[in-house]
Amino acid sequence: EGGERIQKVLAQAGVASRRHAEQLIIEGRVRVNGVRISELGCKVSIEDHIEVDGKPIKRSEKLHYYLLNKPVGVITSAHDPQGRPTVIDYMKGVPVRVYPVGRLDYDTSGALVLTNDGELAHRLMHPSYGVEKTYRVWVRSPVSLNALELLRRGVLLEDGNTAPAIVERLSGVSQTSGKSKENNLEVLEVTIHEGRNRQVRRMFAAVGYPVVKLERIRFGSLSQGYSLPTGAYRALTKEEIKELR
Ligand code: URA
Repeated sequence: EGGERIQKVLAQAGVASRRHAEQLIIEGRVRVNGVRISELGCKVSIEDHIEVDGKPIKRSEKLHYYLLNKPVGVITSAHDPQGRPTVIDYMKGVPVRVYPVGRLDYDTSGALVLTNDGELAHRLMHPSYGVEKTYRVWVRSPVSLNALELLRRGVLLEDGNTAPAIVERLSGVSQTSGKSKENNLEVLEVTIHEGRNRQVRRMFAAVGYPVVKLERIRFGSLSQGYSLPTGAYRALTKEEIKELR
């Protein structure tokens, strides 16, 4: 499950060429977590402690950044005790262990950044950094002007008032499969820079409009642009990484 071949890791760490690294392994000069290895295919992860001739190697790992279009019904963590699918399950083919930057609810879809750059992840998640996030929100129609005004100014939740938000009504009303009037939904776009747990859902519930569907369409400078199919990911470009920092 994951990991990289030991000779590749040794080469990346600048210990030796890949060919020479194989030689070191065959000669029994390489230990992983204290155990001498002699198998060339052996896979190691970032947590493994590797020594050559008794000296720990320096792992200068390449930094990777991805954008995933998270589907609904997927949990934003590496492991789920209940065995539900996780976002990591969708990162097939990624050569390193990556971590989600922040969270999207199980029921929320959309833009999620994953990286092995712990420093950047930490910074982006910090409330003081205030990354702007835009969500598309589906609620029962019509939304009252009063509710819009409250959402814009900030609403009182159990953990205090929310900061002012940008709330726009998207023109056009989306109709669900039913014919009855109660099935009419309205789509709004909401931009917040806080990141409280289930914040958008709680804000709308607080003004009387429980969220029917929620999708994140922008994370900081990254907008989904609907270019990624649900469940697909792509590497960020150099420019995108620069803009995130
Ligand atoms: N707000 C929510 O309520 N849920 C999310 O997943 C993200 C923001």
